[in-house]
Amino acid sequence: MIKKILLIYTGGTIGMIRNKESNKLIPFTLDSLLLSVPELQNDELIIEYKSIKYPIDSSNMNTHVWVEIVDIIEKKYHEYDGFVILHGTDTMSYTASALSFMLENINKAVILTGSQIPIGVRRTDAKENLITAIEIAGMEKVNEVCVYFENQLFRGNRTTKINTEDFEAFKSPNFPVLAEVGVKIKFNNYCFKKSNAKFTARKNLSNNIAILKLFPGIKIEIIALIMKNVKGIVIESFGAGNATNDPKLAKLFEDMINKGKILINVSQCIHGNIISGEYESSAPFENKNIINGKDITTEAAVTKLMYILGLTNNDSEIRAQLNKNLRGEVTC
Ligand code: ASP
Repeated sequence: MIKKILLIYTGGTIGMIRNKESNKLIPFTLDSLLLSVPELQNDELIIEYKSIKYPIDSSNMNTHVWVEIVDIIEKKYHEYDGFVILHGTDTMSYTASALSFMLENINKAVILTGSQIPIGVRRTDAKENLITAIEIAGMEKVNEVCVYFENQLFRGNRTTKINTEDFEAFKSPNFPVLAEVGVKIKFNNYCFKKSNAKFTARKNLSNNIAILKLFPGIKIEIIALIMKNVKGIVIESFGAGNATNDPKLAKLFEDMINKGKILINVSQCIHGNIISGEYESSAPFENKNIINGKDITTEAAVTKLMYILGLTNNDSEIRAQLNKNLRGEVTC
């Protein structure tokens, strides 16, 4: 059966050209990008195209553009069998994570891909990424938001960008890949099954949040200042969830929680879990109202927080939702 795929262009290196005056890479138009891939003319797939209003370098990504992308998918949800999003690599993992929360009960593939070298350049990695992402989106095996890059299909909210130079730019440090691509496309058994629940697009996100990366010597007054100005904070702690056991830090966390702040503890290590209580230095995080982020990525923690703060104002409900595995973003 012929499948219909919607290709959504947001910008990124994949569609960039070098500006002659500044000699810098800038986003180009979708039409010019498509001319570089005649392979997309195909009898088994109908591919249609849509661009966001102003294609961007993904370092300019923000919550409004996420809503714009979700709007496109929501409006076209029933018309297409799958969606492929062309996106810059810099913030692709944030977008994949955000979309995984915003597209509730999705029963189709939404695959983000991009490239390290623009599509018009001879050694580009863009064509393979794009063609295979489209192929997978039409296979009806994937019912979630994924990243496809350099022969691997990942659960989107498990990814992180790990390399600025290699073609293998992404990793899913705490979850197996969903499919490996060689001569054949081999799916592992980790993809979500289709669900009967109704698809809902959630478009209310709160960005009244911050990420705080601890470092040896950080001033507790500075942590206090940052926390004072936000509703929620993702704290990147050391190792398995440790910080200085200066009692002032535990006291600050307690005061902030009493003021209705939401704290999530994630690790600065890319592999492994937060193990509460293992070391004496995990003491500041032992307050039961601090969310244990377990093996979540910072990208998924931040976007999960934005999504949940957009759903409810009730602090205990916010914490209850944060403690759940909502879209496969955390191992429980
Ligand atoms: N700065 C670019 C972007 O994220 C990098 C890339 O696409 O690889 O849009």
